[in-house]
Amino acid sequence: MGVSGKFFLQALDEIKSNGTKQNIIAQNKKTLLYQEYPELERFDEEIARVFQSAIKSVVSGEKLDFKIAESKSLEIQRKKKAFLEKNAIDLDLIKPLYDCQKCSDTGYVNGKICDCVKKKATELSYDEINKDVDLKKYTFEKFNLNLYPDKVIEGVNSREIMTKICNFCVKYANNFNQNSESLFFFGNTGLGKTHLSLSITNVLCKKGYNVVYGPISKIIGNIEKEHFSKEQQETTLDNVQNCDLLVLDDLGTEFSTPFVVSTIFDIINTRILNSKPTIVNTNLEFDELEQKYTARIVSRISGNYRMLKFIGEDIRIK
Ligand SMILES: [Zn+2]
Repeated sequence: MGVSGKFFLQALDEIKSNGTKQNIIAQNKKTLLYQEYPELERFDEEIARVFQSAIKSVVSGEKLDFKIAESKSLEIQRKKKAFLEKNAIDLDLIKPLYDCQKCSDTGYVNGKICDCVKKKATELSYDEINKDVDLKKYTFEKFNLNLYPDKVIEGVNSREIMTKICNFCVKYANNFNQNSESLFFFGNTGLGKTHLSLSITNVLCKKGYNVVYGPISKIIGNIEKEHFSKEQQETTLDNVQNCDLLVLDDLGTEFSTPFVVSTIFDIINTRILNSKPTIVNTNLEFDELEQKYTARIVSRISGNYRMLKFIGEDIRIK
């Protein structure tokens, strides 16, 4: 499981601030309860005194009789318990209501990040993608291979090749890790490139990976806004560079300016250099890509990505 980047920090932040909030609420409840029953405070003070004098006697070199201190404190605790029962007071009601019992909403267990942080980060990245697409619609089960004709197109049987590609993607999602290869989906419009890349995204989000998905125009738009704004931090670029899997949908549909071209090259190149997997989809042919983005980008992609050509007839019409 690999959760990193902005969702991870955001998750940790949210969990910790809930912990702090619950502690304050619990403290306030306790104050009110103790105001109503000052006896409770006296019991606590007596127990504290027993231990303080035990510690003092150790410090001053006296021999400590643990049994005496223990039995004294037990005696007070018994009295306290009887008092609570008599007045029908349930101390559980003033305990902090943490969301996670393992880490008490601190985000850490024995110095390690708690699972709840990873879970929360996953939910956040899933929610982020869901703002753009209804992710539950895009699963491998819903990818209908019968829509691809059982006939030869461009020299290969469409259904056969698409079955292979689909099986490859299922395996890719199931075995995904930080050493997974980058993929380049190309071919005509309406052949299910977005569907398959979102199916991979879907599986990985559920596994706890930080996946960034977006039509490239939207991702670049956000980066551009943050880049030229004085107030905003460049969180999109940071997340795009560092997420576990980046899925750039529809390369070629964005309006290309020198800034766009250099940003796309930068993203693709940085992720290759850091061995971070990326999936790129496009409807464009290679020569069109070269024209639009320079041969440099195309050669980085063709030299480092696994190329998968989608073949068939536009399934959106069917
Ligand atoms: Zn936790």
